[in-house]
Amino acid sequence: MQFSDIQAQLANGSTCVDTIQSALERAEADTLNCVVRTHAEDALKQAAAIDERREAGDRRPLDGVPMLVKDNLCVEGMVSTCASRMLGQWKAPYTATAVQRLQDAGAVVIGHANMDEFAMGSSNETSAHGPVNNPHDPERIPGGSSGGSAAAVAAGIVPLALGSDTGGSIRQPASLCGCVGLKPTYGRVSRYGLIAVGSSLDQIGPLTNSVSDAALSLQIMAGLDPLDGSSLDMAAEDIQPTTAENLSGLKVGWVPAHNDGSSPAVQAAMAKAREALVAKGAELVEIALPHEQYAVATYYIIATGEASSNLSRFDGVHYGHRSDDVEDLSDVYTHSRSEGFGAEVKRRILLGSYVLSAGYYDAYYKKAMQVRALIMKDFTAAFAQCDMILGPTSPTVAFKRGEKSDPLSMYMSDIYTISANLAGIPALSLPAGSDEAGLPIGVHLQAASRSDGKLLSTALAIEESLA
Ligand code: GLN
Repeated sequence: MQFSDIQAQLANGSTCVDTIQSALERAEADTLNCVVRTHAEDALKQAAAIDERREAGDRRPLDGVPMLVKDNLCVEGMVSTCASRMLGQWKAPYTATAVQRLQDAGAVVIGHANMDEFAMGSSNETSAHGPVNNPHDPERIPGGSSGGSAAAVAAGIVPLALGSDTGGSIRQPASLCGCVGLKPTYGRVSRYGLIAVGSSLDQIGPLTNSVSDAALSLQIMAGLDPLDGSSLDMAAEDIQPTTAENLSGLKVGWVPAHNDGSSPAVQAAMAKAREALVAKGAELVEIALPHEQYAVATYYIIATGEASSNLSRFDGVHYGHRSDDVEDLSDVYTHSRSEGFGAEVKRRILLGSYVLSAGYYDAYYKKAMQVRALIMKDFTAAFAQCDMILGPTSPTVAFKRGEKSDPLSMYMSDIYTISANLAGIPALSLPAGSDEAGLPIGVHLQAASRSDGKLLSTALAIEESLA
């Protein structure tokens, strides 16, 4: 389902109340566990208000578009839990800027989507709401951490879901579920109202069923927000993707070493995507990203350090679950945190506290920041040779639930996506066929910082070629 389907319904006489009512029915019939709660009453009220506004002649680009938001995004008066027992029934006191801008353009939040607890995971298996099924095979994971958002879009429950991407959490599930997932340039979309995990890495982005829907969503969400000091002051005009019949002049870089790390089906899909670009006149350039091999290790120092700091506010006093089983103040902290957080979150808080501790800071955090600078330099060198980098989003198709039980093998599923967060550059995953069993494969495109528009235009060309 795409935005054009909603527009066609409105053009055929449906009201926004109708489009939202149908989406709520689909969400309530969800068998994938991708929707953790719906907000029927508010959603229908908003839809009725949009219908009234339209009758008065004020029509907006996303009128009647039902949307789900990841469970770490704040919508005023609604529960957001980060899929954690820690947040319980916490109600957000304000709305995230990105969500507000989409609502102002006519979209309606119909509910919250499942995710890995505190956005930590690549399979949606760490959620306190239970795992999400991949729409293409219920025994398989949808990817993570925005697994609920990706599954809901791919299954046609909504044409738009918001996710957050700290190390690949929009793109990897988009790839494994077969939809489009965009992580904008760091700062392009305000992070205000996104419950922070890795503040120097986090970015909100759309999951949709087409590149043009992702582009329109970004155009609406992007822009300076005084409530987020890291948001960029850039005009949205360049985000509009342009259809290019002829890509001559476009240099597309690819890393031959990515073949070694990917399954044969993924390799074949990448070869096809490269051929499609060449057929449109693009030139392929072999490039190297020599420090990419250190990206996962670097990320798990920086991201855990930032997470341990961000999550310190959930202590049973400032925020979050408070244990009943307490005798003194120390028990309030330890028991509340022990009961509220799941195993993966605890692992990361421990790792993060360790790498930031006085005796180890230089050896780990400082060193990781130096490697981060080298990874950024790799991209600067690469973008001197090419306009865009094309490769796999994930080394494999969706794996089975329970298949990756040790954390390291799970962490390796983000090997291709993490560098973009470390460097702050825009990146996107779009469907590029499937394996023999029909499981989706995504192609990953990365562009230089602030080139979100160019990224989307190239993605549009690939989408057209592969269609
Ligand atoms: N899978 C990665 C992790 O577990 C990325 C998560 C994300 O982008 N939020 O940290």
